[in-house]
Amino acid sequence: MEPTAVELCPEELGRRQEDTQPRRTCVGCRLRDRQSHVIRIVARPIDGQLAAVIDERRRLSGRGAWLHPDPACLDTAVKRRAFNRAFRGPVDTAQFAVDFRAYLERRDGRSDPPSPSLKAGQHPHGNPMSTQR
Ligand SMILES: [Zn+2]
Repeated sequence: MEPTAVELCPEELGRRQEDTQPRRTCVGCRLRDRQSHVIRIVARPIDGQLAAVIDERRRLSGRGAWLHPDPACLDTAVKRRAFNRAFRGPVDTAQFAVDFRAYLERRDGRSDPPSPSLKAGQHPHGNPMSTQR
């Protein structure tokens, strides 16, 4: 297996000037991204146990975790128990996973059919745009 190459697309490089936002590490894919590109997650006590919840307005206090609005990142984070690490303890994610997917659908405003062959944000072999000059 090849290690996954981290690519910066040209568009990304051109935006350096406005790139003043703090970077947050997604607990799913572990990539750092602008704070506005990731969703804040906090752990709240529900029924005597900590459960991960979406902090939509980013106003809840306490330790936060960050996750891309991407079901793939959610799956990875849940499988890796990344929330347990982020919140330093056992965190229930069952309901969170349901809520997160519902949140994504609400956020998109429409239900695009998923494309299994090519996931968003992943370039299989370089960027075709870079050859156009
Ligand atoms: Zn991610």
